[in-house]
Amino acid sequence: MLNFSQKHEKPNRVEFESNLPAFSREEERNRIMELSNQITYVSTRGGQSGVTASQAILQGLAKDGGLFMPDQIPKLDRTLEQLSAMSYQETAYEVMKLFLTDYTEEELKACIKKAYDSKFDTEEIAALEQADGAYYLELFHGSTIAFKDMALSILPHLMTVAAKKNKVDQEIVILTATSGDTGKAAMAGFAHVPGTRIIVFYPKGGVSQIQELQMRTQKGENTSVVAIHGNFDDAQTGVKKLFGDEGFQTELAAKGFRFSSANSINIGRLVPQVVYYVYAYGKLLKQEAITAREAINVVVPTGNFGNILAAYFAKQMGVPIKKLICASNDNKVLYDFFATGTYDRNREFILTSSPSMDILISSNLERLIYLSTGCDAGKNRKLMEELGESGSYQVTADMKEKMEDFWGGYASQEENAAEIKRVFADTRYLMDPHTGVASAVYQKYKECTGDHTTTVIASTASPYKFSRSVMEAVSGELSNKEEFALIDEMSVLSGIPVPKAVEEIRHATIRHNRECSVEGMKMEVKDILGV
Ligand SMILES: *Cc1c(COP(=O)(O)O)cnc(C)c1O
Repeated sequence: MLNFSQKHEKPNRVEFESNLPAFSREEERNRIMELSNQITYVSTRGGQSGVTASQAILQGLAKDGGLFMPDQIPKLDRTLEQLSAMSYQETAYEVMKLFLTDYTEEELKACIKKAYDSKFDTEEIAALEQADGAYYLELFHGSTIAFKDMALSILPHLMTVAAKKNKVDQEIVILTATSGDTGKAAMAGFAHVPGTRIIVFYPKGGVSQIQELQMRTQKGENTSVVAIHGNFDDAQTGVKKLFGDEGFQTELAAKGFRFSSANSINIGRLVPQVVYYVYAYGKLLKQEAITAREAINVVVPTGNFGNILAAYFAKQMGVPIKKLICASNDNKVLYDFFATGTYDRNREFILTSSPSMDILISSNLERLIYLSTGCDAGKNRKLMEELGESGSYQVTADMKEKMEDFWGGYASQEENAAEIKRVFADTRYLMDPHTGVASAVYQKYKECTGDHTTTVIASTASPYKFSRSVMEAVSGELSNKEEFALIDEMSVLSGIPVPKAVEEIRHATIRHNRECSVEGMKMEVKDILGV
């Protein structure tokens, strides 16, 4: 693989230069990057550029508080027909090699092999189930039965390779805010990984009982879990603050620690998520559900905007996707944004039956905002500063037009429950409350637009992770039974065996009891690290 800096300094660049006009330094650099297929990363706020993929993954968040973006979104270099014949692992390589250009083929293939193995309960890794006139892309067949496993199974491997590549000898401390699913998936991925520690903050009272049990029973001396007295936004803002605290970072560096992130602000989370949209399209093609180059719609139950942004990347890479339908729950800040062009987080934070979407500050939207400004980091930074100061910002008509691939919708708690009940009654397909939001929004989309394009609905969690909400939705009444009784009932009702991830915690011992206030997060990190 070509290395840009070497290439640039070499005097005989004849192979690139011959019949071409003179280029400015910047243009020349871009052109050489393109010819050598090297992608580097820039901060959405302009403070960093020319960062390699492995450096971006190690760093997590850019130093200026921005998010890393590839300097271009690469095009797939295999045809859709070729991709349709590939396994999940092969597809993963074809997609990821285009973004993570400083990883060798051998490194990347080794990471993929370790990540997508028998931890998943299906060889397909992501299953595509046809029900109720749509295709449910089941992303919950990994070890923690939510879609976060799709990226967090590979992130620890990408990170340890990155550490070696960049000769980092400090211990990597993964700081993670979770709305319920990231925390467990990240701990499962990083537990026992040498040279790493992971600290997870979750909103006390803001996650499902199974989610909480999954986290608090996590094994591994390098894992810590803290319940914070606040909501997910508090947790995420607190973590971002620690990333921005240079004094603290210097203090920790002296003790041999450096921070990174397992949240979807890390580009190492986003890239592996692009894979399953490419894969799903290939599967539809293989099943002859669509013809080559026929466009599909994608519906994504959205919180932090990471999953749907991955679908948008897939579209930019060349997967024929028409609309990206962004489904929100009662915290419908994104629905309002796509409707009006104003992002406004000044509203009540509502706890719902789809807790992993209970978010008012969708971090990854910043990446779309940046793209919609035509990659104008200054403009993006201003808007993000406004968001920090007043809690809202407004995009221009031109920017709004650039986001027309997105269609925003939302479903209330009641609509969600009714949808779970309806689809189960009609088809026996039992979905979790996040997928329920997506499914309900999809019905609204069809009604509003009359568009009946073949549609993939991202199914982001197993119903077993939210047994109470699901069983109450199906029966139409509240239940006072205990969680595991409901789980056993669900198994009888659905005919689906209780997943291993749930059986494992039925009798597991609680290992984590930490709690802290939002202000106390820094002290808690210090205490955990013993500094
Ligand atoms: C995290 C999560 C979401 C939201 O995904 P984002 O990438 O944050 O938009 C939806 N459903 C489930 C089950 C999740 O765990």
